[in-house]
Amino acid sequence: MEKVEWIELFLGMDHGKSLSSVECESRASMTGTLNLCFLDKLLKTCRSLVSLHRHGNEFCGVEAIRLILQKHSLFTGDVNVRAENLSCDTRWNRPIESLFDDLTIEFLVGNPAALEKNTRFLKRNLNRLFDIHTLCDDKRAENEGYRYELQRARIITESIRNADFVLDVHSCSSNVGSFALPSSMDLSEELAEKLPVKYVIESLAHMTLEGGTTLDCALLHDVPSVCVECGQHSHPDVVARAVAVISSFLSLQVLNEAGSFNEGESKQSDKPIVMRCEFAERVSCGFEWLNQFPEFSFVPEHTPVFRDNDRGDVECPIKGGAFIVMPSSSPVIGEEALFWASAK
Ligand SMILES: [Zn+2]
Repeated sequence: MEKVEWIELFLGMDHGKSLSSVECESRASMTGTLNLCFLDKLLKTCRSLVSLHRHGNEFCGVEAIRLILQKHSLFTGDVNVRAENLSCDTRWNRPIESLFDDLTIEFLVGNPAALEKNTRFLKRNLNRLFDIHTLCDDKRAENEGYRYELQRARIITESIRNADFVLDVHSCSSNVGSFALPSSMDLSEELAEKLPVKYVIESLAHMTLEGGTTLDCALLHDVPSVCVECGQHSHPDVVARAVAVISSFLSLQVLNEAGSFNEGESKQSDKPIVMRCEFAERVSCGFEWLNQFPEFSFVPEHTPVFRDNDRGDVECPIKGGAFIVMPSSSPVIGEEALFWASAK
């Protein structure tokens, strides 16, 4: 029953702070930097949504929140954080109460029934139900037996609409370091680059073949959002990475005493590699990989990558070559085989 307590956990309180004249002046005197956008947003309201377990077999987010709440503090960890670092008390250096003057934090478990069953989803991938037509289509949900997941999608949509920033935490099947998929808003891309991740891939979140992802929904409602994949589901460091990412996400949204953003302690060498997604390839009949391509392999233009019955051998089509992102380890017809991304 312990897991049930995680279904909707709500921390903090609405501060309902209105702008003081001093704050208004400082806003007016600033120039048009990205930080101003952040600041502008922060001074109005700041409600953070941390969305976990959109897929029921991805445990790192819930485990990370469990640790953060046990310690009652945020953790400082870089992109190379290891599981053993979590036992170092000096890294838990920001009491969580220190956030509550500025932040309302909501932790939301996306699919608690799938979590109970340790399965990705019951009937339909929850992360493809956020398109407005799907959200409103009770009849189809009834016919296809995914009413539960539709109901969860509606609840999550309400939380997104009420948020000022959304972090969506996942793990994946390939053995790779953390990477961030920001929505296509300047604020999302800026924040993603400040997180302890190895890669930032812009635009990918909106390029799934089916659409209807959480980040599509957040973009529709003009709410900045970032999805982070923390690495392989059962990797020994995946929870530590999730703890570092969630802690960093929350502390980035709180202004420091000087009234500017806490930049974190990342060194230049820790800065993520930023790339932009070009498009997704679809799995068709007869699909097979022509080689083993680990996550983020770089392939030169015209390198044969996969084949299927319709297209024969398919080569890398991107001028100057491209990175292979999220290559499917168990390709399903109609789903994405991979995404092409170019270095920025
Ligand atoms: Zn996932």
